[in-house]
Amino acid sequence: MELLSLKGVYQTFPIREKELVILDNINLFINEGKFVSMVGPSGSGKSTILRIIAGLLNPTSGEVICKGEKIKGINPYTSMVFQTFGLLPWLDVTENITIGLEARGMPIKERLRKAFKYIDLVGLEGFEEAYPRELSGGMKQRVGIARALVMEPDLLLMDEPFSSLDVFTAENLRSEIINLWMSGKLSVKSILLVTHNIEEAITLSDQVIILTSHPGRIIGNINIELERPRVRESVEFNNIYDKIYSMVIGSTVATKEVKPLQGT
Ligand code: ADP
Ligand code: MG
Repeated sequence: MELLSLKGVYQTFPIREKELVILDNINLFINEGKFVSMVGPSGSGKSTILRIIAGLLNPTSGEVICKGEKIKGINPYTSMVFQTFGLLPWLDVTENITIGLEARGMPIKERLRKAFKYIDLVGLEGFEEAYPRELSGGMKQRVGIARALVMEPDLLLMDEPFSSLDVFTAENLRSEIINLWMSGKLSVKSILLVTHNIEEAITLSDQVIILTSHPGRIIGNINIELERPRVRESVEFNNIYDKIYSMVIGSTVATKEVKPLQGT
């Protein structure tokens, strides 16, 4: 079943009195039950695509269809995890997690019941009343993830959620996310994760969409059928890595018209 589609999405932004094309004819489809990653270099429009899917930005042209509905304004079927967490410093963990439910008018008892469920799932027990300043980066991102999950979206959007964490914390949180996803305990139907880390994309996803920059365009869409947990040292993993890497690099070189290397 198709959960989301983007059809002919263009985005331009006025930059130095010119309308610059940032996204050039983006067409993508996400089916239910899929963990999808989008990889591309910095500036290729990954965050812009997520903002368009979430309905935070209205594209210059083209459309977003989610659960068969054309989305105008905020997309009620999605919620987002941000790279820099986006927590409110004056609210404690539970209040940060429940803020969206409160905005929906959910009674406090129900809000807390839901919050505690996700606090437990993401490993934040004991930190319910802590403030963001008292938390490490990894714990802050757990709050960011719980805040998105508690909304019980059909599509969870994640914008480089591990990029501002140290490598060990990122690795830990990545495997927890994939375990949660595989456990069937989440009500989310699909995940779209944006990253510039090819290894991360292959480790986590069923499908990898590859983006190039200037302007942002989709240049590849690969299904990853490797068994989980994925082994980075395996030949198959490395083959996929090389394929994606050369697509990204090839397109970057081509679009920037870098001079060919002189003979050695
Ligand atoms: P990514 O997330 O892949 O790094 P972004 O989606 O953040 O890329 O940005 C893509 C391009 O669009 C960048 O060149 C950025 O400067 C530009 N851009 C993004 N948002 C705006 C905006 N609101 N106004 C002008 N330019 C923007
Ligand atoms: Mg970005």
